[in-house]
Amino acid sequence: MDDSEGRDCDVVIVGCGVAGLYAALNLPASTRILMLSKGSVEECDSMLAQGGICVLANDADYDAFLEDTLVAGHQENDPTSVKVMISASRRVLNDLMDIGVAFETNARGELAFTREGAHSRPRIAYHADTTGKEITTKLLSAVRARPNIQILEHTAMVDLLVENGRCTGVLACAVDAHAARLPSCALRQTSHDLVPRELREAFSLAFEPVDACPATNFTPFPIRANASLLAAGGIGGLFTSSTNYPQLTGDACLIAGEHGVALKDLDHVQFHPTGLYTGKPGRTFLISESCRGEGAILLNQAGERFTNELAPRDVVSAAIRKQMRQDGTDHVWLSFAPVDRDVILNHFGTIREQCLQELGIDILNEPVPVAPTQHYFMGGIQVDLDGATSMPGLFAAGETACNGVHGANRLASNSLLEAMVWARRAAYRIAHGSSLPAFEPREPLGRPHAPQAAHNSDETHAEPHSQPQALHAPAACSRMTSTSCGHLPQKHTSANSSEE
Ligand SMILES: Cc1cc2nc3c(=O)[nH]c(=O)nc-3n(C[C@H](O)[C@H](O)[C@H](O)COP(=O)(O)OP(=O)(O)OC[C@H]3O[C@@H](n4cnc5c(N)ncnc54)[C@H](O)[C@@H]3O)c2cc1C
Repeated sequence: MDDSEGRDCDVVIVGCGVAGLYAALNLPASTRILMLSKGSVEECDSMLAQGGICVLANDADYDAFLEDTLVAGHQENDPTSVKVMISASRRVLNDLMDIGVAFETNARGELAFTREGAHSRPRIAYHADTTGKEITTKLLSAVRARPNIQILEHTAMVDLLVENGRCTGVLACAVDAHAARLPSCALRQTSHDLVPRELREAFSLAFEPVDACPATNFTPFPIRANASLLAAGGIGGLFTSSTNYPQLTGDACLIAGEHGVALKDLDHVQFHPTGLYTGKPGRTFLISESCRGEGAILLNQAGERFTNELAPRDVVSAAIRKQMRQDGTDHVWLSFAPVDRDVILNHFGTIREQCLQELGIDILNEPVPVAPTQHYFMGGIQVDLDGATSMPGLFAAGETACNGVHGANRLASNSLLEAMVWARRAAYRIAHGSSLPAFEPREPLGRPHAPQAAHNSDETHAEPHSQPQALHAPAACSRMTSTSCGHLPQKHTSANSSEE
């Protein structure tokens, strides 16, 4: 198709990770949706998630789940956002199981839960050590079965379309594999100021300027939409060592910031304590925190333990860096000796295989070298409980957005959940112009299998505003009053606050 004239749709979604895909599935089936992926659809961090996804396993865990999240986040979290996430967690898990996501179960056929650092009890649903791939692949299949959703792969958003202070879509262009690794601003400029200095400073990046500006023969085309959802993931591509895909260069934050959209907590960057250390360039393979949850221990060069492996990520990362300085090395060791052999074989098969492939080390017999590596971005585009940004018509969800759930440090396995809870809330607001209740009634985990067709049909959203024209209604952003950087979106207070 010739894109020079541009395209029109009801909703454009930038990003095909769990946030973008789940949002698309939660919009009415009559909504014309266009989704963009900077690389192939497989190249998103959602595919990489190993550990699992948190869920409120039983009501008795509510307070502990909340407390663990707040403690990990150094109490800088927005407690309301955390409660919203926990309350909606079973709904998300049930939706995933309805579309065929297979989580591990125990002998009684109930969901099995694992535990990671800073969790006071097991509450993480998982699929071996490839939970993200299992979830994202199934979401992708469901999206592909939808005639109303079109995905444009290898297509990057390079700017927002803004008219009279309202977002009216995005500017996009097709990109090859090399260009996909460049920040968006590099794709639309021929100069070398690739990332605006003030944003670079705000990110506090160990930033290596990209010196090879592409010959910009990329021809941008407009995608006009009634609502735009930014679900463009994190910022790891801007770091020399990261677990993230290199395509994830913080584009949505950079572009939104350039338009004066409110951003938040840009210095809150999480380093994962245990990236597999190989000394080679390229994406760092992650040794999941659940390995330590199942008993793996950290050792210094003398083979001695030096820290509590289950402390929050930032604490463990700091302890490892200190130990590396003391030992004069660039890594420490992770030993699986205390971990049950069957757990290694059944739960950590991919990790074992990767260590064998990259270093020839079998974790059944030997420790592996690990070092902290950039992993997750807690900050981002500031959003309210509906994923609405400070710019009318513009929404954000997933790692790109900052809704306050994670505070200064994310609790392990909260991000897939948080991304999907806000994706659903944003989709609802876009479709209906009104908000989901902040605290929906909790449903039992593993509800009877609902026919898939009922999901996301217009009927499931049978409310006064559920017709497609709701997408055109200015009401979709009527609560937003500020469009300038630094002004907060107004917090939504739900009429239904049945929080327990
Ligand atoms: C190795 C690893 C393990 C992890 N393990 C876990 C875990 O066990 N549990 C957990 O909860 N979380 C985990 N996380 C974090 C979690 O996977 C991510 O935070 C989450 O998947 C982010 O989802 P997302 O939809 O926001 O972004 P992503 O899944 O990263 O998707 C981003 C999308 O945006 C697209 N995009 C980016 N820029 C542009 C642009 N300019 N134009 C067009 N498209 C663009 C990309 O192509 C991609 O499709 C892990 C992360 C990593 C890296």
